[in-house]
Amino acid sequence: MNTIDLRSDTLTQPTKTMRKAMAEAEVGDDVFSEDPTVNRLEKIAASRMGKEAAVFVPSGTMGNLISMLSHCSRGDEVILGDQSHIFLNEVGGISALGGIHPHIISNESDGTLNLETVEKKIRASDLHYPPTRVIALENTHNYCMGSPIKPEYMQQIGNLAKRYNLKIHIDGARIFNASVAMRVDVKDLVREVDSVMFCLSKGLSAPVGSLVCGNKKFIDEARKWRKMVGGGMRQSGHLAAAGIIALGELVNELKKDHSNAQALAQGLSMLRGIVLKPALIKTNIIFFSLEHPALSPEEYLKKLELQGIKMLMIEPGVFRAVLHREISEFQVEQVIRTSEELTK
Ligand SMILES: *Cc1c(COP(=O)(O)O)cnc(C)c1O
Repeated sequence: MNTIDLRSDTLTQPTKTMRKAMAEAEVGDDVFSEDPTVNRLEKIAASRMGKEAAVFVPSGTMGNLISMLSHCSRGDEVILGDQSHIFLNEVGGISALGGIHPHIISNESDGTLNLETVEKKIRASDLHYPPTRVIALENTHNYCMGSPIKPEYMQQIGNLAKRYNLKIHIDGARIFNASVAMRVDVKDLVREVDSVMFCLSKGLSAPVGSLVCGNKKFIDEARKWRKMVGGGMRQSGHLAAAGIIALGELVNELKKDHSNAQALAQGLSMLRGIVLKPALIKTNIIFFSLEHPALSPEEYLKKLELQGIKMLMIEPGVFRAVLHREISEFQVEQVIRTSEELTK
């Protein structure tokens, strides 16, 4: 049976071209900055983001962590969304390892943070308060329906951050999805920010790796933190080679994932018991809930699985489906048809 695995866009396998490039990559010891392939990937990444420099890290989580460690000292505060990946899904690393205090604001449904609320939460200088150092945003915003955040918003929050002398960090695990969905150059999404992390291992199909980009001084510091947390890799050019292919060949392909997501959302939204607004779906991530008189969420999940379809139930009754390169239009149809049978 062919499985249709919609649990995550991290499930994508490296392409043939990637496997070949990985096998043949010219490599060296990257801790000595002597891996030509890693150096090339870092240069490409920095230039795509319009930043001075970049550092290759094994995971997005490590990228976010070392960015925060570079911006903040112990006891400093970061303002971030209550639905953010850094707050929810990174094991509390910024607090546990960095002594960084998270100041949580409710995310708006489009993934942004309300500007007035952010401004109110910035700490005044006071004996009792931790100093606010960073505003962290996420683009696209995973738990806010994969919403892409617009350049206009980035401009506004950029102005706010400047007025208060704060840094901005973007968790851009899927920033190319945002760029492709809104048809804007990715540079226009990060012009106002001091650091951006993006992943090669999600919809872009590389097996491993993320990049952190920023100015030279920041990246030098991030590189030192990367070493401290055990992310100094050696002949990692074998991994970077796949990343170079990802950036060169697969970014534009993300469009297909977005149209498949839209088709899946449209199809599912017509079914009995499924609550889903397709208009909210702008990229490759779909959330919906099931409120069906005769089919429990657990049964739905189990019956889908028996037909080879996998999704995540992220909380009771709430499902997430993520479209990616290995899900075809035809398979989207299959998911809709199977769901229709089950909810009839
Ligand atoms: C996946 C993800 C990360 C972390 O990436 P890993 O490589 O899994 O550590 C960070 N932020 C967001 C929004 C993500 O979806």
